[in-house]
Amino acid sequence: MKGAWSRQETRAAVLRYLWRSGGSFRPDVIAHVGLTDASISRIVADLKAEGLVDESRKRAPYRGGPSTFLTLSESQFVATIELSNNRLHAGVGSLKGEVLFSAQHELPDGTAAMDAESTAAAAITGMADWCLHHDIVLRQVAVSVPGYHPGQASNPIMALRRDFITRALEAALPEVPTTFANSIVTRALAHRLQIGVTRDERPYFYVFLGHGVGGAFVDESAGRDDVLPCEIGHMIMDRQGVPCRCGHSGCLEANVSTGAMAPLFGKAEQQMLAPRDSWRADVQLSPHAGAEIDLRLAQLGTAIGNALNLNRVRRVVVAGWPGAVQDRAGPAVLAGIDRSLFGGAAGVDLSFSAIELGREPASGIALATFAFVNRGGHVTPAPGRKRTRRLTPEML
Ligand SMILES: [Zn+2]
Repeated sequence: MKGAWSRQETRAAVLRYLWRSGGSFRPDVIAHVGLTDASISRIVADLKAEGLVDESRKRAPYRGGPSTFLTLSESQFVATIELSNNRLHAGVGSLKGEVLFSAQHELPDGTAAMDAESTAAAAITGMADWCLHHDIVLRQVAVSVPGYHPGQASNPIMALRRDFITRALEAALPEVPTTFANSIVTRALAHRLQIGVTRDERPYFYVFLGHGVGGAFVDESAGRDDVLPCEIGHMIMDRQGVPCRCGHSGCLEANVSTGAMAPLFGKAEQQMLAPRDSWRADVQLSPHAGAEIDLRLAQLGTAIGNALNLNRVRRVVVAGWPGAVQDRAGPAVLAGIDRSLFGGAAGVDLSFSAIELGREPASGIALATFAFVNRGGHVTPAPGRKRTRRLTPEML
């Protein structure tokens, strides 16, 4: 037993496990969550009655024949507004992660606040209209914004204000709970969903390199899921360096983002951001480009080492373009870590993950599902039918 958990925490633990595992046999849920058979039956009965969990009979991979298989429901829906790679993505999906609606709007770096607001309002209206038309009631909306931190008055990366988005969502989708997160939290959650349930539950430092560069400390060892974002991308490496979109100069991001790396690989940035790393196939590197890429990777390592100097975590997952060039990225990043981490890189467990670019809005839908399951799947207040409304300018 996990000690004194509230009913909500227990519901959240069961839902979170089903989310991360993509579905599970009842004995595995019992073993993982650490509940008695009787209490899990009560919780599962509640979750089934509320339509949050589906149950089926399936042959288990171990002795004992067919058993009860539990998944999150495919008839409960969440939505997202995900800002990523110069675009705003709107999406609606099921708790199982199936994307049902997806729309994208251009939102280049440096877009003025008013233009960004009208893009966001149009995206929210389009999404709400779609829900209305398909008679879909949303349980949760998640908004994913680069550079966002709770309580921070201004965002140097994205001019879109949180209170504007909140008002637009409240007007179009009244009474649907909304959560905001930094893009790196969204990336880290999508990555974790992709790796599923593993035996290795040590905390790790997740670093993502795409159009933006960010990091998050992920700790699920305590049963509570913590994802703490940090702005490793805006760690200053050289104050005389190239200007960064945050307003400073010589940030790590300005040196190792896809925008900075694409010319070295002889590619356009959008090619490097396409799904499944197809850009890697016909890359021919000159010795000069190769040396420069190694230098940038070592800089990344130096920044990671410095981040680890502030934390006891020694497991590092690097996601994004370096995963496509692991042969050179592994030694170069470790060399950089070795130069900056107190005591050297010997105790660092470094791995790469290459397969998560271009997955919007699936990552934002994962963020919304995570927020929903973390509050135990509670619906307060219970949404009625036809709750979506057409958004008009007067509502904002
Ligand atoms: Zn910066």
